[in-house]
Amino acid sequence: MSSYFVCFACCLPVRGHTRSILCDVQQGTFLFIPNVLVDILEMSRERTVDDIKAHYGHEHDARIDEYLAFLVEKNQGFFTQTPQRFPPLDLDWRNPRLVTNCLVDFDTASTHDLVDLNQQLSQLACESLELRFFHPLSLETLTQHLDAFRDSTLRSISVVVGHHPSLQLEALEVLLVLHKRVKHLTIHSCPERDEHHHIDLSTDLIYTTEAVTSEACCGNVSSQLFRCNILSFTEARSFNSCLNRKVGIDTRGRIKNCPSMRRSFGDTRSTRLASVVGHEDFQRAWKTTKDQVLVCQDCEFRYICQDCRAYLQDPEQPLSKPARCRYNPYEARWE
Ligand code: SF4
Repeated sequence: MSSYFVCFACCLPVRGHTRSILCDVQQGTFLFIPNVLVDILEMSRERTVDDIKAHYGHEHDARIDEYLAFLVEKNQGFFTQTPQRFPPLDLDWRNPRLVTNCLVDFDTASTHDLVDLNQQLSQLACESLELRFFHPLSLETLTQHLDAFRDSTLRSISVVVGHHPSLQLEALEVLLVLHKRVKHLTIHSCPERDEHHHIDLSTDLIYTTEAVTSEACCGNVSSQLFRCNILSFTEARSFNSCLNRKVGIDTRGRIKNCPSMRRSFGDTRSTRLASVVGHEDFQRAWKTTKDQVLVCQDCEFRYICQDCRAYLQDPEQPLSKPARCRYNPYEARWE
């Protein structure tokens, strides 16, 4: 009896213009596959392998066998007589929180009230926060800032801070033990140091010579930033992969979708976050998917790549591709 071929439920094909990928959202990896193999996989739930071969004509049998053997070898799928026993994953993205992440920028003139911010984010049940300091901070000042988040709903905090002589490895290891919510600490503008330390299984400390001196340092797109997991994959299918459920506060305390964007929805000194994030206008940016963005909609990486709506290739076209992406999906080439 002829078999069916079924991909594991966590192995999800994404068709691009020139080639496709098969994302394994459980292993966090992806394989390049030809577009015709996506056609075959789409057929394979309804048709046996023999039926698929008949559809393409038997002169292609060897090629189809080769493709399916490749997927078996890569642990992406299997042959079965009972495909109905292996239903596909539900790819809807749901989250009960109105806000999942917040990005706050600081320069030397910023006067953010972090105790109040923590209370507001906790009322919104926000999960993650990034604090981005464009200037150096001493260990003492950094500790004071983090003390504002000792009692919080936040599960993770990322800190990006300018190099200061007091930010030495031993002292920061102690700080990270005391502030377990801090999962990523990046010291930028280091004079001569590029180091990556894993403090424990979930905490990273990075020293880099790269400078992060303004919000304009954001918006980079590279294969190293791809995220191939079920949460980000499903979110990117239905929402914006950078802005969804995000609130940004720029260096002057203006509430925005992202600190790099122009439009402000109020000032943190006079406007509560809750009154902004529930607003239809504010939520509009959450809903721009990569399937709507020009060029990205033809790219095989569109569900694992982070979007940027602040820096656009054509600033007059809101659905333009991110300015800092150098991938050309029509030629399958990074420029
Ligand atoms: S073209 Fe779009 S989806 Fe593809 S890598 Fe660039 S930004 Fe990401």
